Amino acid sequence: MLKIDWYGNIGYCFPDPGKVKSVVCGVCNIEMGVKRNVLGPTCWAMAMAGRKRRHDSFRCPNYGEDWHFKIEKLKRNVYTAECNHLNAVDLEKLKRSTAREIRKILKDNLTR
Ligand SMILES: [Zn+2]
Repeated sequence: MLKIDWYGNIGYCFPDPGKVKSVVCGVCNIEMGVKRNVLGPTCWAMAMAGRKRRHDSFRCPNYGEDWHFKIEKLKRNVYTAECNHLNAVDLEKLKRSTAREIRKILKDNLTR
């Protein structure tokens, strides 16, 4: 059964060039595509400031799909609940039901 990484990436990441060989998508669990040694902003604030840095640009091929966003939102919901100190029993319940939902979405969209 798919293990869900509640704190994983959400479909992209930008490590320093050459630091990371491969990254698995934290949302759908497949290996991400990569463009090496790209020069550009790696976050919104950098983009706003017109700043750039060299990085490897990993992006999940499914990023941008509706179902991918849906899973991202479900996971963020759990993360937010945890940050708001939801009690452990309810948090466990929320995680379990969310995991079930995520697995269903993945099954519907990743099986070919
Ligand atoms: Zn993905």
